[in-house]
Amino acid sequence: MRVAMISLHTSPLHQPGSGDAGGMNVYVLQTARHLARRGVAVDIFTRATRMGQGEIVEVEPNLRVINIIAGPYEGLAKEALPTQLAAFAGGMLQWEHCHDVSYDLIHSHYWLSGQVGWLLRDVWKVPLVHTAHTLAAVKNAHRSAEDTPESEARRICEQQLVDNADVLVVNTDQERADLVEHYDADESIIRVIPPGADTELFTPGSDRATERTRRELGIPLHAKVIAFVGRLQTFKGPQVLIRATAELMRRDPGRALCVVICGGPSGQHATPEEYAQLARELGVERRIRFLNPRPPQELVALYQAADIVAVPSYNESFGLVAIEAQASGTPVVAARVGGLPLAVAEGETGILVDGHEPEAWADALGTLLDDDETRIAMGEAAVRRAASFSWCAAAERLEELYEDALSVGVADCPQRFASGKER
Ligand code: UDP
Repeated sequence: MRVAMISLHTSPLHQPGSGDAGGMNVYVLQTARHLARRGVAVDIFTRATRMGQGEIVEVEPNLRVINIIAGPYEGLAKEALPTQLAAFAGGMLQWEHCHDVSYDLIHSHYWLSGQVGWLLRDVWKVPLVHTAHTLAAVKNAHRSAEDTPESEARRICEQQLVDNADVLVVNTDQERADLVEHYDADESIIRVIPPGADTELFTPGSDRATERTRRELGIPLHAKVIAFVGRLQTFKGPQVLIRATAELMRRDPGRALCVVICGGPSGQHATPEEYAQLARELGVERRIRFLNPRPPQELVALYQAADIVAVPSYNESFGLVAIEAQASGTPVVAARVGGLPLAVAEGETGILVDGHEPEAWADALGTLLDDDETRIAMGEAAVRRAASFSWCAAAERLEELYEDALSVGVADCPQRFASGKER
């Protein structure tokens, strides 16, 4: 089986944790890797963003990233990418033609890729599997008052995909319900496949490793550490953690606490400097450390060195950070939104917080910081919890789904495929 994956707006080879690169990049790369190891040939098409990155990047046997030229390498904001959909689709067609390959199925990620996949599906006469990752209507229903809404144009494009894709893949039952509630999706085409975590990389660390990391980061060994890992934008809620930190310090000014925020700017409306400014206004600038995004091989040390990982998002389709932290033996305090109640076992591997008020977050964080016994027990349970999420299992279920789509895809759509050759 040969699959064309589309990840137009961000390459799976980009460093996640800043800009447009986050969980989706990890998801695309990991599922593609595991599909490739199962014998499925995967080409991931993404927009070229750098001179000299080459058209084809061989990632591992059976897996390539194809950089399609569509618009300038730099200077094109995500908001402007809809202007390049035709160029990108044309680039993919040209690629297929010049390299004499044909694809059995298209799997598109995010609505921009979905729009291209929708067109090519009809040209190639193959099934279109689409994963939205996030949805405008859901984000708008959950965003904070200080965040800007997603556009109606994006919602319309998502609606078209819900109405036209052959299969919709989601991470959780909650996302399935969201698709039905907000987009009136046909439930029979939705497949729930939970994502995974690299549990070979993300493992608990030794006390010595934790000590070393803390020394490297300049964190006092006796301080308690809360970590936030992810893109810095209002929707991910770093401001919630900064305000909760101020509340914790107001309640106990002598508390030895260090909050590490690891990630880079993402979206138009929040920069690390704005978060640093908020910390200064609240008088907690000495408690908060900002770190640049880092690759998973380095991130694991941060998860291990933290006493708690906080995920204060306004919504998460799943929340990979919550699983990675748990795999590293660290309990998670997360917002009770989206996929987080599935990722975190409430009371066993962490705490779920309702809403985003600093007082509620300070209650949850403070309780867990002050109770070493519970926190350590939760860290141990967290490792077991994370072990149930695997990329290998996700890829196996994707392959099954692809096979199902191939067996029914063409036959089920007589109008669409009436005049075309079957592959
Ligand atoms: N990430 C990373 N380095 C960083 C920060 C984040 O590699 O410095 C990765 C992290 O390991 C996780 C992903 O970015 O796999 C974020 O995924 P999540 O689902 O938590 O959030 P999203 O970006 O999808 O909103």
